[in-house]
Amino acid sequence: MSEPHGRPQFCQRCGSPLAPREEEGRTRLACAGTSERASCGFVHYVNPTPVVAAIVQQGEHVILVRNHGWPETWYALVTGFLETNETPEEGILRELGEELGMKGEIRALVGNYAFAQKNEVILAYHVEVPAGDPTLGAELAAYKRVPIAKLKPWPFATGEAVRDWLAKVRPTT
Ligand SMILES: [Zn+2]
Repeated sequence: MSEPHGRPQFCQRCGSPLAPREEEGRTRLACAGTSERASCGFVHYVNPTPVVAAIVQQGEHVILVRNHGWPETWYALVTGFLETNETPEEGILRELGEELGMKGEIRALVGNYAFAQKNEVILAYHVEVPAGDPTLGAELAAYKRVPIAKLKPWPFATGEAVRDWLAKVRPTT
């Protein structure tokens, strides 16, 4: 995934430099104006970006994916950013089509998870896909099927959704 939040140095409304400013107990980047021009009042709010993720169940397995550039041992959930005017449900099913070439059906919203390092909020869904092999999209380097009985959550980001989902489907372990 790309990084939608660079750290801008200039006001996107008037082009003046941005500078830290206290506002309601938080430090915000705000338009500072210039020697010739007063601040236009613009505040650069760095709101989290929503990301959709899917725990892709296929029978007794879950399909995990590895993005290009990741270490060979890293596999995670199918994820993606929403398009304009798309619901999260539409977004994750679109991503499933783009990344795995598969049509899925949403079974449940697993939960929402803050991913502070990337300033994202992850909306994680449990999605079921029919039998068959994925056709990998351009973003992905590889996929693997992991038996649900052997699936281990990783301790951050989408791993928290895997943990919560496993607690429901595998409550005894
Ligand atoms: Zn400005």
